[in-house]
Amino acid sequence: MSMASLKLMFPCKKPRRSQRLEMKEKIDCKTKTINTGPLGFFEILPLELKFLVYTYLPVEELSIMTITSKAMRNMVELYKNTSWAEQHLLPQPILHSALTVPQQAYFSKQFHRLGLLMKRSTCLYATKDRLKLIQQFLQKYLCSFHKSCENPTKCIALVCYGKFLHTVIAGWDDKECIKTFETVGENTLMLRHLNNIVKCKAGAYPTLELHVRLFFRRVFLSQCTGGSDKAFWLSLILKPFPMVHQARVLFLLFGPMCGDEIQWYEMCESTPVNKEQASVCFGDLANAFKVLHSYSKDWTEDDIISVIDELTSSPDEWLAENIANLLYLCGDTITLNVLNSKAINGRVTELASIITSMCLVCIRHDNSISWVINIVNDVCVVLENSRDKLNFLYGIADMFREAILDIHEFGDGEDDSGQEIQYMLDAQAEFMKEVILMAFRNMLSS
Ligand SMILES: [Zn+2]
Repeated sequence: MSMASLKLMFPCKKPRRSQRLEMKEKIDCKTKTINTGPLGFFEILPLELKFLVYTYLPVEELSIMTITSKAMRNMVELYKNTSWAEQHLLPQPILHSALTVPQQAYFSKQFHRLGLLMKRSTCLYATKDRLKLIQQFLQKYLCSFHKSCENPTKCIALVCYGKFLHTVIAGWDDKECIKTFETVGENTLMLRHLNNIVKCKAGAYPTLELHVRLFFRRVFLSQCTGGSDKAFWLSLILKPFPMVHQARVLFLLFGPMCGDEIQWYEMCESTPVNKEQASVCFGDLANAFKVLHSYSKDWTEDDIISVIDELTSSPDEWLAENIANLLYLCGDTITLNVLNSKAINGRVTELASIITSMCLVCIRHDNSISWVINIVNDVCVVLENSRDKLNFLYGIADMFREAILDIHEFGDGEDDSGQEIQYMLDAQAEFMKEVILMAFRNMLSS
């Protein structure tokens, strides 16, 4: 009997297929979807169930899923925008406030994981699009735009910002990293702020100076894993500026701080009282010069000399002891380059003054004065004629006398002036002993 005749007999009934057949068809269809669909078994789950499964995955595994297929990546991308993901990816939202050490470690790790998720889920995108997504994610961690950030020095939001950014861009080539630096610097307005700061009087905008310093240090420099990495980012920050402004930027980034303010005039007015204070004041600056000297292809020896020269005369001439402190921490090569350059230019009095201060620094750092004697030797070789050499050597003796008289005269009976004279006398005595040893070596060895 045909279908048409059945319909004639039972006009109210629809033709029905057996349930068994329908089930078989459904199963066949699902099997086909599972076998051929890009998500495998995930294909047949409703969206809510898929998202529910994601919430049970650690963030690292979620990031690995994004590189399994385009469809899976898109699904995870969808999930990332749901309220479930918000709770899952960052269970404790980061606050702009001071945190305990374990909390800091937790957030650093979590932002590394989130960075990996961003890196993997966007690995097929163009750099420009990736940078846009990174910026969208990071904008709430910029302290300077965050009204509730009351203590940017202690707040770790920018550290997390840097951790995330460096995780995403790990392994990118130089061109892409330069693009990242420019995009992030421009979108956050930090490059513009930096440009404005170097054109203004040092210390004119202390809050802005602090924000710019913390931003470049925490986002680009403190995340570096080695010297060449640090030299790369530091060169990017400094490169657009002339020497005089490079010196200013270096002090802005690495100069000593008191509270929330950069101590621009400290170097012209006072000196550290011990080696711990000296390394707090000059350690970061010296380290920056060492990194640029050892690792940067863009920096010649002459560049380093010029920037140190600019730095130590800004905003006014630094006290000789502070120059000596900086050079001492910069190491032998940079010290000799700087002093030899002064010798070539005939700056004998300045040299004598720095040498005297170096003796004092050696005493404060419990270092042997023979280090200074070697430097004096090298400088003498570079000085052109014997008259300059003699002026330089006599100048050292005169500077000791003047320094002692200065402390005596201007110390105003302050508590530490007696101690300062003692240090200076010790420095002079140690220097004299070394010279005596050299002068009477023959006699002593017989
Ligand atoms: Zn903050």
